[in-house]
Amino acid sequence: MHEFDLSNAIVQTVNKHAAGRRVTHITLRVGRLRQVVKDTLLFYLAIVGKDTPCEGATLEIVDVPAVLRCNTCENEWEIEIPAFICGTCGPGAVEVATGEEFMVESIEVEDEEDAACTAPR
Ligand SMILES: [Zn+2]
Repeated sequence: MHEFDLSNAIVQTVNKHAAGRRVTHITLRVGRLRQVVKDTLLFYLAIVGKDTPCEGATLEIVDVPAVLRCNTCENEWEIEIPAFICGTCGPGAVEVATGEEFMVESIEVEDEEDAACTAPR
């Protein structure tokens, strides 16, 4: 139920920022180390977002590659499978630079003025 919990967190964040306006588009940044199953995430987002300002919003997931950084020389490299060894310094202190992201990058909401203009009078 990993993706279900993440979906809850996303919908809460988005609805808070939307402040009652209808959300039309959501962009998420998801790091590769998160191992999120996108189809499962989209499935739960549709359920969790139902009857909230998120309902019907289009979703875009930006895939963030996993990048490690060596603490000795600041060398950074992208990894497919985690191997926490710097190619220049060998084994030592390295940290994950990117790949653990899970955040709402941006949302688009309905423009209230436009909505008022197109409303029947
Ligand atoms: Zn290094």
